Amino acid sequence: MPLKGRVAWVTGAGRGIGRAVAVALAREGVHVALSARTKSELEAVAKELAPTKVTTFVAPCDVTDAKAVRAAYDAATKALGAPTILVNGAGIARSAAFLKTDLALMETHWRVNVLGPFHAMQAAIPSMLAGGWGRVVNIASIAGKAGAPYISSYAASKHALLGITRSLAQEYAAKGITVNAVCPGYVDTPMTTENVDLMAKKTGRPREELMETLRRFSPQNRLMTADEVASMTVHLCRDESVGINGQAVTIDGGAVQW
Ligand code: NDP
Repeated sequence: MPLKGRVAWVTGAGRGIGRAVAVALAREGVHVALSARTKSELEAVAKELAPTKVTTFVAPCDVTDAKAVRAAYDAATKALGAPTILVNGAGIARSAAFLKTDLALMETHWRVNVLGPFHAMQAAIPSMLAGGWGRVVNIASIAGKAGAPYISSYAASKHALLGITRSLAQEYAAKGITVNAVCPGYVDTPMTTENVDLMAKKTGRPREELMETLRRFSPQNRLMTADEVASMTVHLCRDESVGINGQAVTIDGGAVQW
């Protein structure tokens, strides 16, 4: 069956990677429920999708709030039918030296980057099981595969997300559901712009010099694009991708090769 006519739920859909995923899915004819905290951004994305003729539904929620996530899922299901595609795009990334990483920062990363997808998967997987078909794509990071200075807290959350992804992939492998992750390097999104601005303020280094450092992280000497991440995400959702399960697909131009 083609993707056309299916229902997806995308978190973090207000901007960046989540927005690009929503656009890419809508172009395939997938109806999309859009979640994030900022309603106005979700409404702007829904407006952008209008020409595709798919039905969209704006379901604002904070992914750290289990009840709110459940309510968003229920409202989306009422409006569009139960989503059989879930893309966990909501996430945050903050950096700090390890000895300046307090419990609050550790917990914030955990709550958004791990418990967020956990709540959404707990809400969405039962109807995927009931229908015998489902696709879950977790937007992780190369920081889920490798550590780096100043990101211990972020990297820990993304390693955890890969752990859940791989475990569920095996748990549901015989039930028609695949669970995969996409692991981008630095992507040209508002998150990266914000982080570069913060770093420039903190270190006094010129913004452009910092951007160049991020570009150089990839042997292709560039930032990845949200559209590239979205394209892989859509690929993982297709019927013919059923054999790809429990994978963490790196998109970074070749820096991380495992
Ligand atoms: P952006 O900051 O550009 O967008 C993040 C989205 O997530 C926004 O829609 C935001 O909306 C939403 N979000 C954040 N916190 C919450 C929350 N508590 N509840 C609900 N929604 C939330 O980030 P990116 O698109 O760049 O990143 C998306 C994912 O990709 C993240 O998991 C990130 O870790 C990962 N990633 C990003 C990379 C990059 O270089 N940009 C590299 C590798 C991975 P709102 O604030 O309105 O809630």
